[in-house]
Amino acid sequence: MNRYLMTPGPVPVSTEVSRSQAKPLIGHRGGEFSSMFLSIEDKLARLLKSGGRTVLFPASGTGALEALAANFTGPDVKVLSVSCGVFGDRFREITALYGADIVNVDAALGEGVTPEMVAEAVERNPDCGVLFLTQNETSTGVLNPIDRIIAAIPKEKRPLILVDGVSSVGAMPCFPEEWGIDGLATASQKGLLTPPGLGLVWLSERGWKTVKERKCQSYYFDLERQRKVLDKDAPENPYTPPVSLYYALDEALDEILIDGWFDLRRRAARSLAAGIESLGFSLLVKDKNFRSPGVTAFSLPSGDIPAVSKALKAFGVEPAGGQADLKGKIIRMSHYHDVRWPEISLALGSLYAALGSNRAGCGDFMKEAFEAWEGE
Ligand code: PMP
Repeated sequence: MNRYLMTPGPVPVSTEVSRSQAKPLIGHRGGEFSSMFLSIEDKLARLLKSGGRTVLFPASGTGALEALAANFTGPDVKVLSVSCGVFGDRFREITALYGADIVNVDAALGEGVTPEMVAEAVERNPDCGVLFLTQNETSTGVLNPIDRIIAAIPKEKRPLILVDGVSSVGAMPCFPEEWGIDGLATASQKGLLTPPGLGLVWLSERGWKTVKERKCQSYYFDLERQRKVLDKDAPENPYTPPVSLYYALDEALDEILIDGWFDLRRRAARSLAAGIESLGFSLLVKDKNFRSPGVTAFSLPSGDIPAVSKALKAFGVEPAGGQADLKGKIIRMSHYHDVRWPEISLALGSLYAALGSNRAGCGDFMKEAFEAWEGE
């Protein structure tokens, strides 16, 4: 049976990306490896509209977040930690391990973080040297307006701004230099359409200056140590890199760097959401402006979500469930990869069938979804 993977990471990767990993391995201390690294860096610079070095760790997204925590926080740092779900909370847990003093700001599950909330918190906590934000909260499908949040903080009062872009980069605009982000962490297996295993970290000039001045609390994740070898004429990785994943990322970036890619992701999200609502499900993110272009979460009022999930699995459709407080209460369907109308109709048709006897009263879900697909 064909399986249709709809988890918000890993996401399906193209045949070209899969095949690229089968290329013969090359040594990582040589010109060929450096050229590949520079090609990836150049493509990432175009995607992020930001120059400068990007560090690639053999790690998942949590590793990239830990790299930020190890280099920017510690017992001497007070962190303003803004969270609207599981992943905002995770960064908080990591920084707590590194001994940072943490001030929490929380939005309710399914709600987004507003510029006003953050600007006020920064104003109230001028001693916080680091502000932590999540761009796309995968556990609820919330997209936070990072550009507007940062713009709401007066420049002279801005702490170092670290952003979890693990489930945003690649699928939606994320322009750290333009927006004023100092440290951005992401990973290969979601918007970057690559298999899991690479954690990526981008820093601003202010970010690099800070890591140079601070003593990193980790050997492996020491960004300054990485920077030194990346700055050689032929950039290297200090430790053995997962070369096959580099091949895959290099290939996948070409698939993302096409005109209209972000619009396509938004269009797929909008269409899927319209169909899901029309089927009688309830979208977790009520405010359209906060809905993620990468992942959509929904519940079934007075219905049995675990039964729907089980039926979907039996059809070969594999979304994700809820996490923490939302466990057993929601389904999350991702649309990071090249999801267009055929894939949307597959997902909606499967949901329709999975509803079983609850189907009574379903709206004209395909009509709603198609109108949203065709609309602006
Ligand atoms: N942050 C966000 C926003 C995520 O979505 C995830 C993974 N779902 C992580 C961090 C952790 O990434 P990983 O599972 O790759 O360690």
